Amino acid sequence: MLLPEPIQRLINALERLPGIGPKSASRLAFYFLRAPDEISQELSEALSGLKSKTAFCQECFNITLAGRTLCEICSDPRRDAGIICVVEEALDVLALERVGAYTGRFHVLHGVLSPIEGIGPDDIRLQPLLERVSRGGVQEVILATNPSMEGDATALYLRQQLRPMGVQITRLARGLPVGGDLEYADQSTLLRALSGRQEMG
Ligand SMILES: [Zn+2]
Repeated sequence: MLLPEPIQRLINALERLPGIGPKSASRLAFYFLRAPDEISQELSEALSGLKSKTAFCQECFNITLAGRTLCEICSDPRRDAGIICVVEEALDVLALERVGAYTGRFHVLHGVLSPIEGIGPDDIRLQPLLERVSRGGVQEVILATNPSMEGDATALYLRQQLRPMGVQITRLARGLPVGGDLEYADQSTLLRALSGRQEMG
């Protein structure tokens, strides 16, 4: 059976989302069809404002509100600018902030090095981090990329680039599930990984 074009279009769009298969996509599309107008209106407004109302922090590339140069963390004078925690995604910032024990700043790479997928140093926000550290005032860089093959490779690459700059380089302690995502780790595991971070030899 051929579906009317507007429904098929929504199903196709939903199917492209992570974690949504063809069945869930159809179920959602028909849900919107039946649900009160407010539900789909709110979703479509939230979606259209998502990109236009947000921006990247010019310092750490965390997500911030459009029109702002710095995110909340970078503009907070109580946050120690001498420690930079390097993470893969903005969601990792959230996960570490939830632990509540970290008082330094962040740097969001927006990805990891992955030769298989053709992602090299110029494809992620790596250069701005090196520039940030070379400006001085940084004592420690915590490499908090995920404990996966790509995360480890990215940490090793960064260590190599950062070493001549004379900063202390640490890696989150093991205890995080290998291959796991920071974002899904529970708070006590993250706290242990952070407080037990080790110098990268
Ligand atoms: Zn920032």
